[in-house]
Amino acid sequence: MDSLADIKHLILDMDGVLYRGKEPMPRLQEFFAFLRKQHIIFMLMTNNATRTPQERADQLAAMGAQVSPAEILVSGQAAASYLRRDYPAGTRVHVFGMPALRQALTEEGFIIADDDVKVVVASVDRDVNFEKVKIASRLLQGGARFLATNLDPNIPSEDGFLPGSGAMVAMLAAASGVAPAGVGKPEPIMYEIAMAQMGARPETTAAVGDRVMTDIVGGKRAGLTTICVLSGASDRAEAEAAGTDFIFDDIGHLLDGWQAALLSR
Ligand SMILES: [Mg+2]
Repeated sequence: MDSLADIKHLILDMDGVLYRGKEPMPRLQEFFAFLRKQHIIFMLMTNNATRTPQERADQLAAMGAQVSPAEILVSGQAAASYLRRDYPAGTRVHVFGMPALRQALTEEGFIIADDDVKVVVASVDRDVNFEKVKIASRLLQGGARFLATNLDPNIPSEDGFLPGSGAMVAMLAAASGVAPAGVGKPEPIMYEIAMAQMGARPETTAAVGDRVMTDIVGGKRAGLTTICVLSGASDRAEAEAAGTDFIFDDIGHLLDGWQAALLSR
């Protein structure tokens, strides 16, 4: 894709792109108004599995952006649908994570349990304690499959970087001696699900993100045009080294660039 004017579908990361913690990025409302007006079909796609799509939609509504939960794909949902390829409904799984992740797995028909499980699904648990680590690592040592929603080491917030799924999963891996597999970005599974839901083709789809190792690398693997914004995890040098197609300071500057590309058509 040579021009932003060719974009028909958009996959947008959330943390570090639309907001930083509780702080919306400048011109957030204007950005979504533009997408709606131009009939750009989009999917918000986040590795952060600590909230449900509904909770993310409520969070954005409080920032003035109206987005449907169906337009939001969280890595917990992706992990649950990925596991359903290999396991029937009723399979027992253990969850190391927040209620949002338990809900995603329950909605796909899994039974949440602390013993006799096929899989340990792990992500950020804000109430982590010794007992929880002990239970999960024992199940892993006993042969349960180890699936992480994602392996991001940290999460950008208004208080700086917070411990992410990768940090929690690293603790479980060290305790159990079992290595995890990740479902979230940069793995292709989340992009496949999002593209299918939008009816999108790679040639006219772009992925916007702030973290090169997940958003940009994942977008490239999926064959998409990549757009890095510098309002979160990665800097310009990192974005350029990865061969990112377009780089902007934030979504406001992306909006300016996009409008200019449309005018020059
Ligand atoms: Mg991000």
